[in-house]
Amino acid sequence: MSEAAEPEASLLVVVLDTNTAAWERCPLQFDRALQQVVIFLNAYLALKPENKLAVIATNKSECRYLYPTEFTDETTIPEMQVYEQFRDVDTKVLTGVQKMIESGSMSSDTPAGIEQGQSQVSRALSKALCYINRGTKASVNKIWPRILVVSVADDAPREYIALMNTIFAAQKLGVLIDVCKVVGSDSVFLQQAAEITGGNYLKVDTQENRGSLLQSLMFTCLADHFTRSMLYSPHNDLIDFRATCFCHKRVVDIGYVCSVCLSIFCKMAPVCSTCKTKFSFKLVRAPSAANGTSAGKKKPPVN
Ligand SMILES: [Zn+2]
Ligand SMILES: [Zn+2]
Repeated sequence: MSEAAEPEASLLVVVLDTNTAAWERCPLQFDRALQQVVIFLNAYLALKPENKLAVIATNKSECRYLYPTEFTDETTIPEMQVYEQFRDVDTKVLTGVQKMIESGSMSSDTPAGIEQGQSQVSRALSKALCYINRGTKASVNKIWPRILVVSVADDAPREYIALMNTIFAAQKLGVLIDVCKVVGSDSVFLQQAAEITGGNYLKVDTQENRGSLLQSLMFTCLADHFTRSMLYSPHNDLIDFRATCFCHKRVVDIGYVCSVCLSIFCKMAPVCSTCKTKFSFKLVRAPSAANGTSAGKKKPPVN
């Protein structure tokens, strides 16, 4: 029995939000946060030699793999006292983020519906799931996949459908999604992602303790599936599962749903702002008019 309980390797895909506008609001500086994330990545790799890792960075205009990549930095002098894989991860992640910020400050091609403080999280999660699908199929031994989202940006209502699709795909594949929200208000979308897939959602308080990001990552997101079954994970009972309207990002109990793209609105509109479908307001014939026999027995309305 003890042999069967032996944990196998994990495949962790980290989605790192590098939205500079959002990080500027954070009491913890971005470069210090990045150092803490890199320490966590090294700790994860040190935990088990078979552990696999991928890092995907996203911001408002793009989404790219930072690790593993073919890129090698020839200018870096090899440090003899650093484990080679740690150095490889550190260099690629730090250099990749630097390049992404530089290219992001020059480019202005932000997709429609994504605002300054928002990021393309659904796109990054789709990439992560593709990587996991490929990785698990290529692996000879059983591998436990999971995703960690280090989030700083606000929810983009435009992303809702794409994000929910990726969440359900992750649930179907048995992929946990852990979320570490570093700055800003709680992300309703990512709270649902963590809850539906069985992962942990954590809001980090960087105001009081500048090292709290690393502490939270180590205590909540480092353990693999097997260890988690023996740990008491932070559980949030206050997750709001109500839908959010796409027009004002307000949580609604009852709303209007576009019959084409399933966007939710709090007020009736003649055109869907997401898919531009024009709605027909011709009244559906009432059952009483169509079939006078069954409906006619009911009491007729007064006036
Ligand atoms: Zn609304
Ligand atoms: Zn629509």
